[in-house]
Amino acid sequence: MGRRVAVLTSGGDAPGMNAAIRAVTRVSISKGWSVFGVRNGFKGLISGTIEQLTTRDVGGIMQRGGTVLGSARCPEFMTVEGRKLAIRNLNQFGVDCVFVIGGNGSQTGNYELNKMGFNGIGIASTIDNDLVGSDITLGVDTALNIALEAIDRLKVTASSHQRAFILEVMGRQCGYLALMSGLAGGAEAITMPEVPTDPEKIAEVVQAAYEHGKSHALIIAAEGADYNAAKLTEFFYANKERLGFSIRSTILGHVQRGGSPSAFDRILACKLGLGAVEAAERGEYSVVVGTIKGEVTTTPLADIVNKTKGIDIEMARLANILD
Ligand code: ATP
Repeated sequence: MGRRVAVLTSGGDAPGMNAAIRAVTRVSISKGWSVFGVRNGFKGLISGTIEQLTTRDVGGIMQRGGTVLGSARCPEFMTVEGRKLAIRNLNQFGVDCVFVIGGNGSQTGNYELNKMGFNGIGIASTIDNDLVGSDITLGVDTALNIALEAIDRLKVTASSHQRAFILEVMGRQCGYLALMSGLAGGAEAITMPEVPTDPEKIAEVVQAAYEHGKSHALIIAAEGADYNAAKLTEFFYANKERLGFSIRSTILGHVQRGGSPSAFDRILACKLGLGAVEAAERGEYSVVVGTIKGEVTTTPLADIVNKTKGIDIEMARLANILD
């Protein structure tokens, strides 16, 4: 009998997760293995909601955002009892390795499972791009392009009405999406969790833009920054007389997650899926599969848990020069 492996998606959904499920499934089947899909992340491991996947089951999902397996946050998995139940269910299905497609929290859960003796391999997937062990995670490219499209649209309406727009983007405690969308969208200023904000300085930049005759001003705020959209808007309203522009604020929120995955994310998902199955074939467990300098790599989960990847300060400097 061939090997039996399982695949799940966990934490926040990210465009490209479906393409990764498809890749893991089809590469595994090509090796003569049986693949089981777990519903709703670690929650499905605990409830035993596990079904065999065939090549056809993962057909037609590549172009869809979200995850066909479902995802969930599962506090029970943070307990030893919860993970024991999960291992019992996996053993009942004869599964000897689980592929965990997800971000920081999910890979921490994966690590805890490995520490209890069950083999797991992670696939770096989160729109936040905060995972150590991968230069770019699955979903980032699509989310970035959605943010950029929103920026371009906001600029059109902002210019027609001489407005300053504050756009808040996702990213939890990581400023990557804010920084890169701000850079690509030509923002006047960007707030990020990694850099303390001086709101007075941002007000000066907006005021100067008005005085120089700019038709609009755009500020990108990261949701996890000390000055997110709400706080920055409050500050701007208190100073609105001097800013010149009228002020509007938009929170992009979950819109950023829902897109059809970009070509980059689909290709990345194919490569990471293959990398993960090959790691399982080599017996290399308790690792996360990501890309470093364009190469598919494995990094021990022990080296990535409780860490958050920082932003590239050079990019922040560049965004400042180009505003
Ligand atoms: P994203 O950042 O993209 O939203 P994520 O994978 O970081 O995704 P989290 O909500 O942080 O999402 O974590 C997902 C799940 O991982 C949690 O609901 C929980 O089941 C599991 N998990 C997180 N931390 C731990 C831990 N310390 N021990 C065991 N399981 C954990």
